[in-house]
Amino acid sequence: MKLINLIGFPHARLQEFLLEHRIEPYRAHQIFIWIYHYKVYDFDSMTNLSKALRALLGEHFHISLPRIQAKTTSQDGSVKYLFELEDGLTIESVWMPSDERKTLCVSTQVGCRLACAFCLTGTMGLKRNLTSSEILGQQIAVNEDLDEDNQVTNTVLMGMGEPLDNYDATVDAVRLMILPEALKLSSRRVTLSTAGQVDLIKKFQEEDLPVNLAISLNATDNKTRQDIMPINKKYPIEVLMECLRNYPLKPSRRLTFEYVMLGGINDRDEDARRLAKLLHGIPNKVNLIPFNKFAPSEFDPPDEEQVLSFQQYLLAKNYTVFIRRNRATDILGACGQLAAQPLSPAPA
Ligand code: SF4
Repeated sequence: MKLINLIGFPHARLQEFLLEHRIEPYRAHQIFIWIYHYKVYDFDSMTNLSKALRALLGEHFHISLPRIQAKTTSQDGSVKYLFELEDGLTIESVWMPSDERKTLCVSTQVGCRLACAFCLTGTMGLKRNLTSSEILGQQIAVNEDLDEDNQVTNTVLMGMGEPLDNYDATVDAVRLMILPEALKLSSRRVTLSTAGQVDLIKKFQEEDLPVNLAISLNATDNKTRQDIMPINKKYPIEVLMECLRNYPLKPSRRLTFEYVMLGGINDRDEDARRLAKLLHGIPNKVNLIPFNKFAPSEFDPPDEEQVLSFQQYLLAKNYTVFIRRNRATDILGACGQLAAQPLSPAPA
């Protein structure tokens, strides 16, 4: 029998497993505390469980994390982790420190099928979905690699892959990120990003998972968006915005719109004007991300003055707009640059 990895295994399903074996379901709580809070990965060391239960767990489960194969440190202090999965495939996560906040960008797929034109991951195609163990395991493994002061405080599901395309595993992992018995992050500190899969956004809003939702918008007219994000053929801008207008937000929460600025493509004054109209009536904040050129890309970074004037226009319309300077650009760790290429280990 193939053993199941308990990292990433849903709490409710562990309770069901225990009930099936006539064991009190509250033991799931104790098992989770051992794993996620005390980082004990060996059933025999879980001393408040009976010997019989420890043996039962050992017959059905194991506990393991993805292996860090290499890490590269950027001049800005960010660290890109290359993980080797059990089948030999590799994925990447990027840890980005900024004052008190330590943000980890995690991957949800090996590659991605959505083929956004500005994204290196998109050139790989989809190799496979990650399991919930592999999604959650990135964060746990990175925390184990870092000292106490540098533990991850915020998680963004914006690495390799479209999270909603790997729906069940992503939802299981996100649930565990915010579960008090597991990683216990505040739901305000977890952000799921999507390229705009309208049907799956509607499904996700039924999950009772009040994490932040970020939409990778990147254009304000269907022609341009279709050229750079083929998903726009299935879900044109007006369909996407209608869905977002009806997205149930908790009080004081906002949707985040990510806007990668490509020189001469989507950074024009008319784009700023259209964006202001599109966002009207949606509680939001906008992240403008000036594109960072990488070797095979046909796109250019935007003109700095144009970025500032784009921002100014939206600010004048009372929107909250940040210019997000890409992190880890020197190590291909920036937005859309993750492709799990083999790396040389960082000097210690
Ligand atoms: S930007 Fe995101 S959705 Fe688009 S190809 Fe890259 S990983 Fe996939």
